[in-house]
Amino acid sequence: MSAPTSPADLVILGGGSGGYAAAFRASELGLNVVLIEKDKVGGTCLHRGCIPTKALLHAGEVADLAREGEQFGVKTSLAGIDMDGVNSYKDGVVAKLYKGLQGLVKARKITYVEGEGRLTSPTTVEVNGQTYEGKHILLATGSYARSLPGLEVDGTKVITSDHALNLDRVPASAIILGGGVIGCEFASAWKSFGVDVTIIEALPHLVPLEDEAASKLLERAFRRRKIGFELGSRFSGVQNTENGVKVSLENGKEIEAELLLVAVGRGPVSEGLGYEEAGVQMDRGYVLVDEYCSTNVPTVSAVGDLIPTLQLAHVGFGEGILVAEKVAGLNPAPIDYAGVPRITYSDPEVASVGLTEAQAKERYGEVTTLTYDLAGNGRSQILKTTGAVKLIQAPDGPVVGIHMVGSRVGELIAEAQLIYNWEAEADDVASLIHPHPTQSEALGEAHLALAGKPLHVHG
Ligand SMILES: Cc1cc2nc3c(=O)[nH]c(=O)nc-3n(C[C@H](O)[C@H](O)[C@H](O)COP(=O)(O)OP(=O)(O)OC[C@H]3O[C@@H](n4cnc5c(N)ncnc54)[C@H](O)[C@@H]3O)c2cc1C
Repeated sequence: MSAPTSPADLVILGGGSGGYAAAFRASELGLNVVLIEKDKVGGTCLHRGCIPTKALLHAGEVADLAREGEQFGVKTSLAGIDMDGVNSYKDGVVAKLYKGLQGLVKARKITYVEGEGRLTSPTTVEVNGQTYEGKHILLATGSYARSLPGLEVDGTKVITSDHALNLDRVPASAIILGGGVIGCEFASAWKSFGVDVTIIEALPHLVPLEDEAASKLLERAFRRRKIGFELGSRFSGVQNTENGVKVSLENGKEIEAELLLVAVGRGPVSEGLGYEEAGVQMDRGYVLVDEYCSTNVPTVSAVGDLIPTLQLAHVGFGEGILVAEKVAGLNPAPIDYAGVPRITYSDPEVASVGLTEAQAKERYGEVTTLTYDLAGNGRSQILKTTGAVKLIQAPDGPVVGIHMVGSRVGELIAEAQLIYNWEAEADDVASLIHPHPTQSEALGEAHLALAGKPLHVHG
């Protein structure tokens, strides 16, 4: 059965970060938009990703403060973690944002269709037996938690982040397979809740996509927090035991715990959705696009975790906006992916923008680096956090990489992003007076030092 109406300007398959951002921008630009979602608008980020994980991490921070109050002369102790209470706090945050988002969909007069869609031609999507025709189609079906060959996720002892966000108890111990962003965030939150955590990472470092110096600082902090990790260790198998699981590594080691969290990355949701049949070029399930998120089929674009760019909600937002503007006939600039900020919200946080030292050396040959230790930053001392700001400067002057480790440094990345994206030189930033005492001063002081006029720097 065909929808009786004339084609929409834009039909969007998937209402996650990428899809709904495109819908909002397109409707702002006067386009007639259909947004198709099989589950809940907001997608992974709102319901199973960014927001609930950060709520868990915040609950963890509160637990740590209660446990460590004496450090600040405050007599506190941690009576325990009430997982029902944590979950209702987390779910309350999600529910409020979900309601707000549903309100925005209505207010923007977007035609919202609930149901599982399938691309049936370069200009049509079928949902619930109904065909929606669009002058342009945006694929935004997102991603799912991957596992390893032969590693079966049972949802109770072997789980993914989807299950981990809804645990009704605090496990005594957990093994986390994968030391990337998601693995490190769960390790941090669970440790704060009192879980005995061990991370297994096949590569030589935690958060392996970050600058090696940042990874090493995180490892040092995790060691201090007694979060265990096995680096350069490959998983070889898992067995159920009476109380949980026994994980074996290729190096012969065996580790037991109550559960195993599989956090080895996310794969694109594209199987059986008609993309290939409609002529869209794909690679291992990812939809291939150019710098404007256009596929090889002129009427089809794709954004978010479905395409092989950084799997981040704000990247999805940016790509969605880009596609909406392109479809509306504007002339948006392609995204510089190196200029997108990246944050791991563990304790301590890891935040970066621009190139790592290794990437910068590859591009420029020799580079200058400067590391400013948070030991010299008053606010960081007040918070009792350790870490550093590392700058990477290209030979012709601009700062091309900023890497930070420490509590709350994620909030500093917005300034770092301006420095990188506006190609600022050390002197430009050094001349800006930063407020005292803030952690942002560490960024200012690092640039003062790089410009040859260090202030609070020893040695
Ligand atoms: C545990 C975790 C923590 C994360 N933390 C962060 C963070 O702190 N910051 C950050 O930037 N990113 C974070 N991310 C990543 C972020 O969630 C994703 O990058 C983002 O959600 C991708 O948006 P998307 O629109 O591409 O896909 P999704 O958000 O996955 O949305 C895709 C939508 O499409 C729908 N869909 C799929 N198939 C169909 C179909 N056939 N018909 C109709 N609808 C369909 C799905 O139901 C879904 O709602 C996290 C992810 C996880 C898993």
